[in-house]
Amino acid sequence: MLTIGCHVSIAKGYAAMGRTACSIGANTFAFFTRNPRGGNARSLDENDIAALRSLLAEHGFGRLVAHAPYTYNLCSAKEDARAFAIASMREDLERMEFLPGQYYNFHPGSHVGQGSERGVELIAAGLCQVMHEGMATRVLLETMAGKGTEMGRSFEELAKIIALVEQKRPELSGALGVCLDTCHVSDAGYDIIHDLDGVLAHFDEVIGLERLCAVHLNDSKNPCGAHKDRHACIGEGYLGSAALGGGEDVLRAIVTHPALKDLPFILETPNELDGYAREIAYLRGLAE
Ligand code: FE
Ligand code: FE
Ligand code: ZN
Repeated sequence: MLTIGCHVSIAKGYAAMGRTACSIGANTFAFFTRNPRGGNARSLDENDIAALRSLLAEHGFGRLVAHAPYTYNLCSAKEDARAFAIASMREDLERMEFLPGQYYNFHPGSHVGQGSERGVELIAAGLCQVMHEGMATRVLLETMAGKGTEMGRSFEELAKIIALVEQKRPELSGALGVCLDTCHVSDAGYDIIHDLDGVLAHFDEVIGLERLCAVHLNDSKNPCGAHKDRHACIGEGYLGSAALGGGEDVLRAIVTHPALKDLPFILETPNELDGYAREIAYLRGLAE
């Protein structure tokens, strides 16, 4: 059975997120560890987390994919912005320990003109400060569309970050992974519409498929290589719409691919809950 869900609000707490997910036919979900514009995290309610943990077990959920706020930039040119990202990620990961065995996904950051090489160094240095040996959460770098000076636009760039962390702190290697965003990789120039097999073979060569832990399943408002990062609803963008050169076969290939089909799929499409429920049911149908 497909493990699929969407981004849900943490505003009403942890157990409420699980109940919302169940109500739309999801068996995983994503959530922001705190307000996406930054600011304080909710205070931790251990009873609430315990209630979510039993709900997840009872309903056979797959791994959850927490999302770091977009405002963190581990490779900012400003030292205070880097320090903020490091302090916030460390706190997020401490809190994730109360919900062991899940994923924590983050955007590698933007090098803001310092260059990719410096970006790689700063992100790796930041990760070495926020991760610790034996942590119960796997930290996922997200593949990015390559808007502006965004890092993570190529598999090579992600591989360099992972290799540098591994070199500095070999004990952290197993706790690092990658989340593949279908809108972002297409925008970055990887042709998953016509050659998903080839793109994943390339991922395997450069990063290794054993690092591929989760998928953000989004359609794209722009063609392959656009570097725009605008998500479309499933079937309404360049991946899933036949009128735009994609189609249902492209979506089916994604949710049934041997390298992807057992990973958690997270929808980040422009929808309300009823729209997510429809997309989840539709994609479950395609995967059968
Ligand atoms: Fe993201
Ligand atoms: Fe994403
Ligand atoms: Zn995006």
